[in-house]
Amino acid sequence: MSEATPGWSLVVHGGSGVIARADLKPEQDIAYRCALARAVEAGAEVLRGAGTALDAVEAAIRVLEDEPLFNAGRGAVFTADGRVELDAAIMNGATLAAGAVAGVTRTRNPISLARAVMDRSDHVLLAGAGAEAFAVAEGLEQVDPGYFFVERRWRALETELGRQGLTIPARPNGASGDQALAALAHDEGKRGTVGVVARDARGNVAAGTSTGGTTGKRWGRIGDSPLIGAGTYASNRSAAVSGTGEGEYFIRLGVAHAICALVELRGLSLQDAVDRVIQDQLSALGGEGGVIAVAPDGQMAWSFNTSGMYRARIAHDQAMTVAIYKDEP
Ligand code: ASP
Repeated sequence: MSEATPGWSLVVHGGSGVIARADLKPEQDIAYRCALARAVEAGAEVLRGAGTALDAVEAAIRVLEDEPLFNAGRGAVFTADGRVELDAAIMNGATLAAGAVAGVTRTRNPISLARAVMDRSDHVLLAGAGAEAFAVAEGLEQVDPGYFFVERRWRALETELGRQGLTIPARPNGASGDQALAALAHDEGKRGTVGVVARDARGNVAAGTSTGGTTGKRWGRIGDSPLIGAGTYASNRSAAVSGTGEGEYFIRLGVAHAICALVELRGLSLQDAVDRVIQDQLSALGGEGGVIAVAPDGQMAWSFNTSGMYRARIAHDQAMTVAIYKDEP
């Protein structure tokens, strides 16, 4: 790894999956690009003001969680029994401190709950009722189940349960069925997730990931996003990485940590490391997905083996780039 240079950089993803040009209407394409740009801007504002990579990651992910287009926070997909179970993690590359939550159902911004686990508990990962109780004790905003209802996600659940021959559960209380949102949210094939990696002016890196998981998942299923080393990892000795894709594959490969190990121990460039794990290892195992990454020297990278990945990046000396499809730079 080369010496840290001054400046900052930030990369965002909004999920990978079946996201081909032909699948998105022009108004959906624009809505997703604008939402990604808003998140990048929220993170960049922190970094421009000499804030930390960790704060930039949390700020940008909160924007994505509040955005109904993405499968995290408000726009989360539904479990087979018609609820949301949210997973999130955050990690500080400077200290290797990490916090994560799994199976959260009422916390508006799971990334901030993960941050609270990291900053104010003795633990790394809290799940289910214990995580919810901690959220309440920490005074984090709690919302009713109807807050998370996006009509399009419900229809995706009905399709998935129909395919599996399972019973469709009752709609959650307070489900509003907002048709405008229903028209814009895209179903990228049962999945989605949001993630942010950042490098601040001190050369520290951080990573965060937040997700509703996979449409029609069994209750209690935990994906890769909250598992440190699988969907999320950050170390100043290598890189910060956030993943999106079929969690069951990311967990078995330890994707995020594998990328960091290739950089730290094998001396690969960041781009070579993300390509090695995604294009070679993940593809060979039959998994689909992608990652974003940033290194303490300012390198930024992304790699995915799906038809698209919602993604964007910016740096102190580079204008914002927003991309969706495979053929975009
Ligand atoms: N990785 C997420 C999970 O398996 C889903 C996704 O990123 O598409 O929970």
